[in-house]
Amino acid sequence: MSTTQNVFFRKRVVAGVEHRRDPLFGSWTRINPDRARRPKHTGGAARGADLQALIQSSRETCPFCPERRDTETPVFPPDLCGSARLTKGELVLFPNKNPFGEYHAVGILADSHYIPMEAYSERTLEDSLLLTQAYFRAVHRKDAAARFPVYVWNFLPPSAGSIVHPHIQLLLESRPAPIIETLTRACLRWEEGQGEAFWDALLREEVREGKRVILAQEDVAVLASFAPRGFREILVFLPGSGSLADLEAGEIRTFSWALARLLKAYHAMGVGSFNLVTYSPPMGAAPPPFPFHVKLISRPYPKGIYTNDTGFFERMYDLWIIDTLPEEVARLARPFFRDG
Ligand SMILES: [Zn+2]
Repeated sequence: MSTTQNVFFRKRVVAGVEHRRDPLFGSWTRINPDRARRPKHTGGAARGADLQALIQSSRETCPFCPERRDTETPVFPPDLCGSARLTKGELVLFPNKNPFGEYHAVGILADSHYIPMEAYSERTLEDSLLLTQAYFRAVHRKDAAARFPVYVWNFLPPSAGSIVHPHIQLLLESRPAPIIETLTRACLRWEEGQGEAFWDALLREEVREGKRVILAQEDVAVLASFAPRGFREILVFLPGSGSLADLEAGEIRTFSWALARLLKAYHAMGVGSFNLVTYSPPMGAAPPPFPFHVKLISRPYPKGIYTNDTGFFERMYDLWIIDTLPEEVARLARPFFRDG
């Protein structure tokens, strides 16, 4: 066994497996890059063929395609946001038919039934965030207790996205998700103990090591997480920002720009499915306990029966098993940010 002395990025190698400690949460991830090379006895179909079949077959009954969505998707109550559905360009926002939270809405991103991840424009992503803000602000005006924003994107079925048509999900809840509570407590504890914000320390230490930095600018940082909880986990954060609902237009533009590049990078890495999750301070928090940030993780490629990427450790033991080194993820993503 060997242990590294860096107090921020703590890891030890046991029997060829890297055990890495998340610097903020203290949770552990085990990384064995050899696992990516192990034979998998499922999903032998030609890569992409199943995906094309899924796109074709789902199009025939898709409730989000323009010819069906007006009759097959619900509308907001008349007094919530001033119209039955919120729209901006091709974007359409309406209540989730099967909600699992407060003010749970769905946003259709485009008329097209399918957009490959590398083809998403900054404009589409930017508009989705601007429309999201309009929704959150309207709900909050109506119900001041609703103030914890969530914006998530499940890309294709392996990520638990049940509908192929490009869409995001939004919630504005009166209670934070458990991870937001944990994150808030951890950031306050860090600041009290260390005398500086965790996010300042994280960026400084990542830049000092350099191995996982994809982009470090004053207004946006893109990093491959040191102790990821998902495959190819990438963290994007906007230093000094607050709630998603309160982000300024320039911050949204910067974030959308980075996200569009990351989707191209994911595609180049062979990723076919992903989850994007946001971590937002509550609306109006001053000062915000942490900056607005986002994590992307890749999920198995959409094809027939596949080997799942989460097993008993992740589901039930709170331990994260990863097969790609974050340093490799950063190396593969960096070229997509090179031309500024
Ligand atoms: Zn569709």
